[in-house]
Amino acid sequence: MPTFPGDTPDLRRAIIETARALPRLGLTKGTSGNVSARTESGFLVTPSGTPYENLTEDKIVALDWEGCYRGETLPSSEWRMHLDFYLAKPDCGAVVHCHSPRATALSCHRRGIPAFHYMVALAGGDRIECAYYATFGTRGLSEAMISALGDRNACLLANHGQIAGGATLQKALSTAEGVEDLADQYLSALILGEPVILDAEEMTVILKKFKTYGKQTSELEDGQTAAFELPRRMD
Ligand code: 13P
Ligand code: ZN
Repeated sequence: MPTFPGDTPDLRRAIIETARALPRLGLTKGTSGNVSARTESGFLVTPSGTPYENLTEDKIVALDWEGCYRGETLPSSEWRMHLDFYLAKPDCGAVVHCHSPRATALSCHRRGIPAFHYMVALAGGDRIECAYYATFGTRGLSEAMISALGDRNACLLANHGQIAGGATLQKALSTAEGVEDLADQYLSALILGEPVILDAEEMTVILKKFKTYGKQTSELEDGQTAAFELPRRMD
């Protein structure tokens, strides 16, 4: 069978590894959730309704930018969300959708995650929105996702779960993990009432710091400064 450019056995294996990490990390159960990665002419996505332990390389489905697929297995019912995520975000190389328990609980109240903690910046903005409700596996859900994402790379999906993208499969997975962590902390904080929300000015500072956080000084680009005050080096 002909394959799309960039559709490699290694990428198919990496998608399976990422998908299997979802139940292991407590981010999903059963066949909920799906994982994809960009190729040169579209993307590869997990098949619909298949338990994660039954995934094999040949069951991963290739789609092109028109939403046409090749092969015997049906792609994830959420293929359109993945397609539209890539079309909206040229820097995104992978997308993870899951029904992680805390993010899903918040989404059932149609509540996004405000800047109660500076780490909301991990999604690229000063809050994480919850999309309006639409039925799973529909174009409407994809449209709801796009409007909730704005210029960020993750959002909650009302009465459903969350979706996160990143440059790599590892980054998309860690953003989904981060969203779940934040939802957990926000729900805990709400026990004592509404927590204090960081203002827009502070979040602008945080978002700037996030551009260089985790980088060594040799990795800083021209004009960039370190994310924090550096101590004096002794040697
Ligand atoms: P698929 O098994 O079709 O990927 O669907 C799972 C899901 O989470 C639907 O929203
Ligand atoms: Zn889902």
